[in-house]
Amino acid sequence: MLTINQNIISSTINNGLIILNENLEICAWNKWLEIRTHIKEEDVLGKNICEEFDYINEKKLKRKINSVLVTKNPSFYSVDPHKYLIKIESNSVVDKIFDYVQQDITIIPYDVEKKLVCLYIYDNTELHESNIKLKALNETLKDLSNKDPMTNTYNRRYFSEISQKYITLSKRNNHNLSILILDIDYFKKINDSHGHNVGDKVIITLADCLKSYVRESDIVSRFGGEEFVILLYDVSEKSASQIAENIRKNIEKLDIETDEGNINFTVSIGVAHYDEIRDDKNLDKTLTRADHALYEAKNSTRNTIRIAD
Ligand code: GH3
Ligand code: MG
Ligand code: MG
Repeated sequence: MLTINQNIISSTINNGLIILNENLEICAWNKWLEIRTHIKEEDVLGKNICEEFDYINEKKLKRKINSVLVTKNPSFYSVDPHKYLIKIESNSVVDKIFDYVQQDITIIPYDVEKKLVCLYIYDNTELHESNIKLKALNETLKDLSNKDPMTNTYNRRYFSEISQKYITLSKRNNHNLSILILDIDYFKKINDSHGHNVGDKVIITLADCLKSYVRESDIVSRFGGEEFVILLYDVSEKSASQIAENIRKNIEKLDIETDEGNINFTVSIGVAHYDEIRDDKNLDKTLTRADHALYEAKNSTRNTIRIAD
């Protein structure tokens, strides 16, 4: 039978190994650490690890080493929040997220009699970076599935989903919910006279304005074409009408720059307040009432708001 030469393992292993005594003095510092930290073993041997690397929490490390020596079992050592025991500059070249190598540390009883432990340092930077990138990617995908790509407002599917949550929230907190349905007046004329691209620009400008006129907690969604629905949370019936009128007035004043000069447009808005008794458990009936109010606005002068009864 062959005995594995520990020196060979220590010098070739692709992880960091530190042997410490109970006074936290460094008794071994392997090749991987020498290469990654640019610190030679001979320069740290016999030195207290917490004095040499003063960002290490001495109390915490000592407690953990004692417990490993008592239980004689390896134990994971958390290096939160920085995720490193020894500062090692990350050598990632592409899309670097962390400045320092992210580490998982296990403390292993090395020689219980002599009260020696081995700190095993595992480089987890790639895993942590992949997780962060995956999370960001998921957020982007979620955003894409919830939003209308042209205006970056929410789509109808997301509106239905979120409105259900808002109803629950409004019941719990006894808060109001109101709906505005808004449609551009004579939009076909804009498309016909100035072309589809200018039409698109009008829709995008309108969406940006709507987002800026309401609060973060309100939901602006594009239901189709040049029709938008806004869900106003915790806004009284009276305030909802004021917000609608304010939007109408501001849109009227907007100038859209085109190659043929500035153009203007107006909107009509239907307003409805969610009423649990009349509207039941979802916003479908509120939306229908708001839609009727919009129809009335369109049938009167346009560029006006109407409030559903
Ligand atoms: P009203 O005042 O009654 O609302 O009249 P309108 O001309 O605005 O009529 P309507 O609301 O029915 O017009 C919808 C038009 O919007 C028809 C369609 O060609 C156009 N449209 C739908 N989606 C888009 C889009 O993404 N871009 C552009 N440029 N036009 C669109
Ligand atoms: Mg229209
Ligand atoms: Mg329309």
